[in-house]
Amino acid sequence: MKTAKKRKCIFLDRDGVINEESGDYIARVEDLKIINGVSQALQLLKSHGYLLIVITNQGGITEGLFTREQLKVIHDEIQKRCAKSIDAFYYSPCRSRFSASLVHKPGTLLYEKAISQFNIDISKSWMIGDTERDIIAGKKMNLRTILISDKEESFKEDYKTKNLISAVDLIIGIS
Ligand SMILES: [Mg+2]
Repeated sequence: MKTAKKRKCIFLDRDGVINEESGDYIARVEDLKIINGVSQALQLLKSHGYLLIVITNQGGITEGLFTREQLKVIHDEIQKRCAKSIDAFYYSPCRSRFSASLVHKPGTLLYEKAISQFNIDISKSWMIGDTERDIIAGKKMNLRTILISDKEESFKEDYKTKNLISAVDLIIGIS
C-alpha cells in the first residue's frame, strides 16, 4: 500500500492570534473580533500548501460559562469570516487550575491527536501563539515557534512578531 505524503501544518492559537484577546472567554458571536488582515494571512498560508489547525484552551466550558454548542457557533463564525480557511479546531474544555490536563496547553495531547489524524510532518510545521504555554507546547512537539507579542517578553520562542500577518510573511520567506 502506498503511504500518503505527510502534510505541513501551521498550528494556531486562537485568542490573541486570530481574534482579539478580550481578556475574558468569548461566549457570544457579538464579542468576536477577528484581527485585521488575519483572513488574508490565513488564505496566503493555505495557498502555500499548509494545513491550518487551531488548538485552543477553552476552560470556560468546565467552568459552565458556555457550552460546546456555543463554542461551535463561535468557531463556525470564525470560519465564515476567514473564508473557511481553517482545517480543524481542537479545543481543551479543561481548566488548568482544576486539573493538570494533558489536553490543556502546555499539554500536547491535542497536537499529537492532530498530527496523527492529519498525517503531519512536524519538521515542516510551525506553532504560532501569544502566550508562554503555546510556546512550551510547540517546543515539546519540536515545532518551530513564533510568539505573537508587542511586549518586552520572551519564552525561548524561535521567532517573535507583532501579529499573525508578520508571522506569515516570515514563514513564507523561510520556506
Ligand atoms: Mg492566546
